[in-house]
Amino acid sequence: MASKIVKGDTVQVIAGEYRRSAAERDKARGIVQRIDTKTGRVVVAKINMVKKHQKPMQGRAARTQVGIIEFEAPIDLSNVMLVCPKCDEAVRVGFRVDGDEKVRVCKSCGEDIK
Ligand SMILES: [Zn+2]
Repeated sequence: MASKIVKGDTVQVIAGEYRRSAAERDKARGIVQRIDTKTGRVVVAKINMVKKHQKPMQGRAARTQVGIIEFEAPIDLSNVMLVCPKCDEAVRVGFRVDGDEKVRVCKSCGEDIK
């Protein structure tokens, strides 16, 4: 099953605090770091940063980072849209069949998306 969004894509968050004006949309964009297809969640660089207090642990499992650490929390796949490199817009993705392969296409401009 071909996926509409894959690791390394630039995506735009279309929900919550990231639903911004066009001028600020770069803040709602990031590159996909990780996808969990089981839970339908995605981790996007610099998006949905959360802070966590990390206490040092005793003994064998010494942590490399202690104090306040910041990391990307996963967000739901339904809250992100792929940014088409040609349109430079968050777009819907379709597929076309090319031999045995499914190729992603932008539903706005019709271009293939690598
Ligand atoms: Zn496009």
